[in-house]
Amino acid sequence: MARDYYEILSVSRTSGGSEIKKAYRKLAMKYHPDRNPDDKEAEAKFKECTEAYEVLSDDKKRQIYDTYGHDGLKNSGYRGPGNFDDVFSSFGDIFGDLFGFGGARSQTRRNNGPVTGNDLRYDLVISFMEAVHGGTREVQLTRRDTCWTCEGSGCRPGHKKANCSTCNGRGQVIRSQGFFQVSSTCPKCHGEGQVVTEPCNDCQGIGLIEKSKKVSIKIPAGVDTGAKMRLRNEGEGGRNGGSSGDLYVIIHVEEHKFFKRDGDTIYCRFPVSMIKAALGCTVEVPTIHGKKELEIPAGSQNGEIFTLRREGVQSLRGHGRGNMIVELQVVTPTELCEEQKDLLREFEKLSLEHGQHKEQEGFFTRLYHEVLGRKTKEAE
Ligand SMILES: [Zn+2]
Ligand SMILES: [Zn+2]
Repeated sequence: MARDYYEILSVSRTSGGSEIKKAYRKLAMKYHPDRNPDDKEAEAKFKECTEAYEVLSDDKKRQIYDTYGHDGLKNSGYRGPGNFDDVFSSFGDIFGDLFGFGGARSQTRRNNGPVTGNDLRYDLVISFMEAVHGGTREVQLTRRDTCWTCEGSGCRPGHKKANCSTCNGRGQVIRSQGFFQVSSTCPKCHGEGQVVTEPCNDCQGIGLIEKSKKVSIKIPAGVDTGAKMRLRNEGEGGRNGGSSGDLYVIIHVEEHKFFKRDGDTIYCRFPVSMIKAALGCTVEVPTIHGKKELEIPAGSQNGEIFTLRREGVQSLRGHGRGNMIVELQVVTPTELCEEQKDLLREFEKLSLEHGQHKEQEGFFTRLYHEVLGRKTKEAE
């Protein structure tokens, strides 16, 4: 049973936005992974309060939660943070002034202290249908991971780093320039203050080694090109006991031969023969959810639009399914045999007798004059 969001943030049900934000800031600061490296309990607490904040800071989600509780949110398609959008970019304003960075996690670099691994980016190309229906992708990633022989220290087992002789362990070197003293990062230890004197054989003293790993990426139904997902701790390995960086997966969706997509709406052009369009028919139109019957009324014209309600893409934001728009493409028959041609000539003759041809001509003449008239007006 999930805990009550108000209880998690220790706020009342009538608390306003700023009060909720303040409560979250306090908790986030306490449990942030940067302040509690490798502390699973703190990480869980951080996730919990982030989820509570994400819901209670959003009027729509809060309303759903107040009325229907956790189940209501689940039914509305809310999947919780971290699964899709990146909590750090959504709440950039909060973390930005909290830790002095805008998006990515800070790179801690203290003397011989833990160093968090770099965040990595992975561009994932998925098919149109994968984006629409979601799924799981396994990718083989080669990245630098912590060397477990030296646990990322870079030192041969049984040895420790020694104070850097260039800067005497300060990490900074001071040069005199005239009257001024200029301090800069030590070029030998790169500011760490310590250097590896007995390098680990496996990683040559770097603390990281190239490793290949299978990473499972969950693709939520309804993603589109440009969607960004964050996989915690799947980035480059940390050093000196630091946690791994994160992996950012950027989604690229391939085009589809038949379907086009704009947000949650699906578009397609469906061909129907001239005869069927004239007589009317029922056709089976492929949709992203399977085949659906569509009634084409007699006398349908090329370019006519039909809407198949809720046959579009599942909304990522829990707004249900979009629609599918079908544009009719009336196809004129080609490669006719003599018999068919004769029938069409007969048809033409009958049309003339019924005055239907004239009606059509009359329509085009009217249209022609309308356009011409408008043009004349414009010229004035
Ligand atoms: Zn140094
Ligand atoms: Zn090593």
